[in-house]
Amino acid sequence: MTEPIVGHAYEIHSRNLEVAVYVGHRAFVGIREKFDHHYLFTEFGGDGTGTVRSVGRDLGPVPEGIVLYDHLEARCSVCGRLTSWLPDGSTPTPGRSIHEDGTELEDGAGTVCGDNRPLFDFLANIEKELGL
Ligand SMILES: [Zn+2]
Repeated sequence: MTEPIVGHAYEIHSRNLEVAVYVGHRAFVGIREKFDHHYLFTEFGGDGTGTVRSVGRDLGPVPEGIVLYDHLEARCSVCGRLTSWLPDGSTPTPGRSIHEDGTELEDGAGTVCGDNRPLFDFLANIEKELGL
């Protein structure tokens, strides 16, 4: 099998996905359906290991501007700024989220991860065209 191209969608044979975008490092992101809920899901393989058993037809590249992640970045639930994870070795969670500029989150703030809607819509469109 030829190496899949990062950023291209493929027909794949895997445990949960039929169409998925190759995002590199053996990871494929596609739409998983579970209990009537549809969401982006990552499976690994395509090289004889993992849950992606084989990779089929190349369905073309993902349009420019769509990021190749199943979720978008985590944002602060209070101010909406991007956050990053600061490991500090504490327990039970060995670190905490802070704003990307290094400042602490507001009191009571958490983080929210948005679905990658543009990638979801791109894949949903392909599945519709293929009659899946
Ligand atoms: Zn904030």
